Amino acid sequence: MKNLLRNEYLTHFTDSVLEALAPIHCEICDIHIKGTTRIHRICDTCLYMFEIAPKDDVLLNTLYTHSVTDTFMFSVRSAFTFHHEAPIQRAIYAIKYGFAQQMAFDFGAYMGLHVPDIEIDALLPVPLHTARLRERGYNQSQSIADGISSQTKIPVIQALQRTTYTITQTKFTSMERNKNVHGIFRVHNNQNIRGKRLMLIDDVMTTGSTLEACAETLLESGALSVSAYTIAAAVSRKGIQ
Ligand SMILES: [Zn+2]
Repeated sequence: MKNLLRNEYLTHFTDSVLEALAPIHCEICDIHIKGTTRIHRICDTCLYMFEIAPKDDVLLNTLYTHSVTDTFMFSVRSAFTFHHEAPIQRAIYAIKYGFAQQMAFDFGAYMGLHVPDIEIDALLPVPLHTARLRERGYNQSQSIADGISSQTKIPVIQALQRTTYTITQTKFTSMERNKNVHGIFRVHNNQNIRGKRLMLIDDVMTTGSTLEACAETLLESGALSVSAYTIAAAVSRKGIQ
């Protein structure tokens, strides 16, 4: 008991020292964050202002509008709606480029409390190309998946590989995105996925072309079904942008 108290005291002491050395500010409103928040580097006030994403069937329907033939997705869910210039964009930017690995994990833990009511055998982070992984230091989708798994105990598996270093898709049209990512993934261990109900994990769904390309490859390699869950989905009044 004494040890426990001492450890708690030390943890508190260490946190206080770290806090004094490098105070944490909210990525969105820049307020000085004291103590812990649900999402690392985001104050709770900003978190509650994020717009909740449309329902799963609305998101799934909008995928049809972007696909050439059909969607490969069994189900799709997002926690929040992504808008350019909105607070969520700053969070996603921090996750991608701001060394915010803990933030990605915390978003995952939050998402883990609201997983769709379907059977899922494994979570599958959308992979980065190894060159980009080296550049960034971590795969944000892996951190999000680890966060979801911390709540749900659904295992996280690695079965996909990104074989081509794609340029950023931000300015591409839906058709260009489909072409840009088509066939760039390959399964490196199909024993892991055969007959499994998989859930792809990523930070943002824009047109869904990356997720569709992953799903097509996974289904061709024997997966039973593929769903997706992302922190945010870019949705306009007409559907996914
Ligand atoms: Zn804030």
